[in-house]
Amino acid sequence: MTLRTIQYPLLTLALALGITGCSKEVPAPEANVATPPVAAKAEPAPTSDQIHQQLLALDTHIDIPTTLGTEGADPSLDGPMQVDLPKMRSGGLDAGFFIVYVGQGPLDEAGYQAAYDEAERKFAAIERMVSQNPDAIVLVKTPAELKAAVAEGKLAAAIGIENAYPLGPHYEHLQEFYDRGGRYLSLTHFGHNHFGDSSSAKGEQNGVAEPVNHGLSELGLSLIDELNKLGIMVDVSHTSKESTLAAVARSKTPVIASHSGVKALFDHPRNLSDEELQAIAAKGGVVQLVAFDSYMREMSEENKAAVKGVREQMGLTAPDWYKTASQQTLHDFRAGVAALNEQFPRASISDLVDSIDYVVKLVGIDHAGIASDFGGGGGVEGWDSVEQTPAITEELLFRGYTPEEVEQIWSGNLLRVWAEVEAYAEAQR
Ligand SMILES: [Zn+2]
Repeated sequence: MTLRTIQYPLLTLALALGITGCSKEVPAPEANVATPPVAAKAEPAPTSDQIHQQLLALDTHIDIPTTLGTEGADPSLDGPMQVDLPKMRSGGLDAGFFIVYVGQGPLDEAGYQAAYDEAERKFAAIERMVSQNPDAIVLVKTPAELKAAVAEGKLAAAIGIENAYPLGPHYEHLQEFYDRGGRYLSLTHFGHNHFGDSSSAKGEQNGVAEPVNHGLSELGLSLIDELNKLGIMVDVSHTSKESTLAAVARSKTPVIASHSGVKALFDHPRNLSDEELQAIAAKGGVVQLVAFDSYMREMSEENKAAVKGVREQMGLTAPDWYKTASQQTLHDFRAGVAALNEQFPRASISDLVDSIDYVVKLVGIDHAGIASDFGGGGGVEGWDSVEQTPAITEELLFRGYTPEEVEQIWSGNLLRVWAEVEAYAEAQR
């Protein structure tokens, strides 16, 4: 990646004087503050990479394999996964929500038990990553803990739960999941559950599901109340439009979309309409725009066939290939798909920043953030692994966002919402 050299005379001055709004420690000014600004102008302009390394960057959606922290999925090594600790460090990604994801299964006793067991394995995997690397990464349960970890020079791991299904038939496990660090909950995944309707049919990225609950069920509405009381952010990524609007209306606190796209830019069931974006913003929430190729462009039949060809060539034919293949095989599969880019251009960083621009123009800069969905199918041309993260900052700066605005998008908005959710719960206790 080549970085554009961008001139920021004011920022140079600010960095030299140590007065940026950025959260991280900036080097102490060499001269005392009484030195005339003229002297500071001699400093070379910071590159976008330097600006990126100074700000606090947070990705709200990083999927993990249940094998995280075992051989073949060792986060301490620069290995085949899109996210590991060395690549987080080199890519200047300070913090991430690591995901306890459970796919939608049957709403019966065996289904709930299997879902709970899977959630348990994911929590254990994240805990393993942290306990094996205590000098590198800290499990954080509050925005203050996150900022403190980063100020100490460590990486921060927060936990998001994707799909309320493993909470049990009556969210029996909610308190336990909170105690283990779950701080946002996506109400559904692909397929409806007992809490409400999904944007998509079960097991399908692209299929639209016929409504069952027409939004959230009574149980889903009472779950929102419990999330508010505990201090868990309500996440409307993967919910249907009716569910999203119902969740926003019910919640006493701002809600998030942890990894979503913009319907006006590409009409996909997973993307949010203007009405949803406006509702989330009106409540003070934030939409974390996701770098997910197939939510950002129409794929031709030839393109789909070419991707399928790559998969079959690698022997990835089992229905649950994504869960069972080794991390190295998944890495090679992604590389194979990326190699098709010349023939079938994928979505790019430019498309991702278009979606950020769209939200900023529609509802304001207070309501936009960024999510990769790395490990869960995420990644676009130019941002295929966490080490390429500075390229996003570069594009935002190139489009005229100030470094302070870039940091607001990278972490400030999400941390604001999280703090509000936490404060509301605190006041209820
Ligand atoms: Zn997802």
